Amino acid sequence: MNTKAYGAHAGDKPLEPMRITRRAPGAHDVQIDIAYCGVCHSDIHQVRSEWAGTLFPCVPGHEIVGRVSAVGRHVSAFEVGDLVGVGCIVDSCKHCEECDAGLENYCDGMVGTYNSPTPDEPGWTLGGYSQRIVVHERYALAIRHPETQLAAVAPLLCAGITTYSPLRHWNAGPGKKVGIVGIGGLGHMGIKLAHAMGACVVAFTTSGSKREAAKALGADEVIVSRNTEEMAAHSKSFDFILDTVAAPHDLEAFLGLLKRDGAMTLVGAPATPHPSPNVFNLISRRRSLAGSMIGGIPETQEMLDFCARNGIVADIELIRADQINEAYERMLKSDIRYRFVIDVATLAD
Ligand code: NAP
Ligand code: ZN
Repeated sequence: MNTKAYGAHAGDKPLEPMRITRRAPGAHDVQIDIAYCGVCHSDIHQVRSEWAGTLFPCVPGHEIVGRVSAVGRHVSAFEVGDLVGVGCIVDSCKHCEECDAGLENYCDGMVGTYNSPTPDEPGWTLGGYSQRIVVHERYALAIRHPETQLAAVAPLLCAGITTYSPLRHWNAGPGKKVGIVGIGGLGHMGIKLAHAMGACVVAFTTSGSKREAAKALGADEVIVSRNTEEMAAHSKSFDFILDTVAAPHDLEAFLGLLKRDGAMTLVGAPATPHPSPNVFNLISRRRSLAGSMIGGIPETQEMLDFCARNGIVADIELIRADQINEAYERMLKSDIRYRFVIDVATLAD
């Protein structure tokens, strides 16, 4: 099926309207009419070829929400008309240890929502800056928020799960002091989620202007990370720090804030490496430095339901599709509170 989309023909070209083809739904597929798609910093890294291996044309977008418009004959979990989401994963091998554990995000055969090999045209996946998508039902998520919140639910599909999963894995909760570094799309969700889990939350920002607003998200304290005195006041006190920053930066300053056995987990994926930290900063207090990538499908559903129960959505700025290039420039200046979401209806004639 011919579908309108917005994408780029090369890494140094702006995004523009284009037409793509979606497969007809197979027996286990759901076809989704996309209503909104969030704009993740990974979209910028990928469409601008900052990470290796971008295939063009590239249609980004993996924070997808919409309504089921057709289902294959063996689909049991969804019906036409259901509100659903699709995140960063549209397929996986379905039989390895990771898939069996519901950790499809760590399957070697994971198929990303864009820029991954697929038998469909044109040979790689095309993402959610488009009117329609077709996925196997295993990778569609039920949305239980009120429909009026649908646009603000979209960012949960990547920013939400990418922060929820490590917060759960490293046991954020009552009695734990948790740091969130970078108050962007991921970081602002990290603050909301860690707060809802009952942790004491400290946010770290390079933008002093975000200080008061970040408290409203649920941060107990906000630190301007360039202020060494403010940083020193928290020395050796954190159980867990989640670093969401999209650019290379000094990790040392944050490792020194972990207490004994504390862990710092990187989810930000800058195109060039961080300066490597001094090993003595790790061994001196049995600290860990770790990484985490999105989350599996069952945990993504768990996160969506947790958010629906706790009234959590993203803080968004809704844009037309033709504002996407400008939105990217604003994200690079940290000039967004906190996530752009494309109104996909603006792709229509
Ligand atoms: P974003 O909305 O642009 O937010 C990133 C934040 O990092 C900014 O708001 C800013 O916060 C801070 N920052 C930016 N440049 C900085 C610099 N030079 N030094 C220090 N801080 C800086 O991006 P996002 O969508 O949240 O994504 C963040 C990163 O996570 C990206 O690299 C993305 O590719 C990656 N990501 C990873 C996964 C995963 O599975 N691991 C999933 C999704 C995204 P302040 O203004 O508060 O300083
Ligand atoms: Zn993302």
